[in-house]
Amino acid sequence: MLKKNEIYETEFTGYTSEGLGVARIDGMAVFVPKAIAGERCRVRILKVGKTVAYGKIEQVLTPSAHRVKPACPYAGLCGGCAFQHMDYEEECTLKAQRVEDALTRIGGLQLDGLSITGAKTTGNYRTKAQFPVGMPEGKADAGFFRQRSHQVIPIERCGIQSEDADKIRAAAVEWMRKYRVPVYDEVAHSGLVRHIYVRCGFATGQVLACIVANGETLPKEQELVSMLRAAVPNLTTVVLSIHTKKGNAVLGDRFRTLWGEGYIEDILCGLRFRLSPRSFYQVNRDQAERLYEKAIALAELDETKTALDLYCGTGTITLCMAKQAGSVIGVEIIEAAIHDAKENAERNGIKNARFFCADAGEAALRLAEEGTKPDVIMVDPPRKGISMDVIDAMVTMAPQRIVYVSCDPATLARDVKLLEERGYKAIHAEAVDLFPRCAHVESVVCLSREKADDYIRISVHTKDLQTKSN
Ligand code: SAH
Repeated sequence: MLKKNEIYETEFTGYTSEGLGVARIDGMAVFVPKAIAGERCRVRILKVGKTVAYGKIEQVLTPSAHRVKPACPYAGLCGGCAFQHMDYEEECTLKAQRVEDALTRIGGLQLDGLSITGAKTTGNYRTKAQFPVGMPEGKADAGFFRQRSHQVIPIERCGIQSEDADKIRAAAVEWMRKYRVPVYDEVAHSGLVRHIYVRCGFATGQVLACIVANGETLPKEQELVSMLRAAVPNLTTVVLSIHTKKGNAVLGDRFRTLWGEGYIEDILCGLRFRLSPRSFYQVNRDQAERLYEKAIALAELDETKTALDLYCGTGTITLCMAKQAGSVIGVEIIEAAIHDAKENAERNGIKNARFFCADAGEAALRLAEEGTKPDVIMVDPPRKGISMDVIDAMVTMAPQRIVYVSCDPATLARDVKLLEERGYKAIHAEAVDLFPRCAHVESVVCLSREKADDYIRISVHTKDLQTKSN
């Protein structure tokens, strides 16, 4: 039986989905941050739970060849990156393994390895920065939350963010200090500035700065704009996000433009996209292009085909598909994103795309009732995956292909299994890394509709696997 505070010598064999190292000691799985598979370490047990224990490394006895000195001075403090202690090769290996494990164990697929497309660069890639504001050393500052806390750590430079984002943060902090702008206190729900938010269009060079505040106005708004513009000459627009509710949501639901148009543009897969602060946009532009190209190739579109894109955001994938399909329909729940999507169709001269703002489940049901029969359904849902009503409505529409883009391998695997049980067969799966140094990973699975006799075969096959794993 493992004992708290005792030190054990052990070898790590793999990773959890959050990237913690996993070792087996006395028959129990022990999760340890910053441990690398293959390493022998001395581990102190910090907590013994019912099924797993947690520990920390006391000493690395035989370091992995993949162990590196973190490039970031905040590694271990900041809750952002998970893999600063290993090289990128190992990070990609573990991410591919994680997707493969989910698809085989939860999804019941039989896979013989899974490929991952790693990023060409692991630094300065994020298109979006969200810096929480606090009073860490008795004065206004902004940076990142310490791991598992809401304590703000001031930072100079974040290696995965753009330099422009850090310059905007520094200039906004200077403005708060110069004009004694009150910092928001989440416990008392008082004060003003909550977050500094930056979005960059890497292909256009455009930058949006957004101050999130617990109020309708800011003191010295024009001085703020001047200071931000002086810090980043290519700044395009400055927006105030009014966020007066309690809670962890970063952005509020109302916006007021302080300078410029209130949005920026970026170019993705050869199309020009307008991006408002609230619209979803992948945080890694180069890798998003690769992901979308792969997903759209799997859709096997041509001008005779209709594609439905559920969870379409600002219409990025929808409009890329429109170039190859007869017609496309995009569905998204956020009004501002649909507004952007319609604008985006227009600014790219795309006439065969329709968008509407609705819950994916309701929209899919309505389309199914209306008799819409898309040849392809593309889904790119948030982390929680797709709900049962969406699965049922999709199956009713009976597309030949379903292409599922996902940022959570576990919910992807769960949904793939449900689709396989309803007559679809997963014919391709791969991963694309959009989040170098961080624990997230994107993946794409293509499912194809089987004929009736194949359906029986698949049901049996799935059941067989279930029995095997029990
Ligand atoms: N395909 C887009 C957006 C993917 S992110 C892109 O790659 O850019 C997932 C999107 O789903 C977000 O825009 C989010 O607002 C939207 N969304 C979340 N819940 C939804 C729901 N129930 N119905 C429709 N859209 C939803």
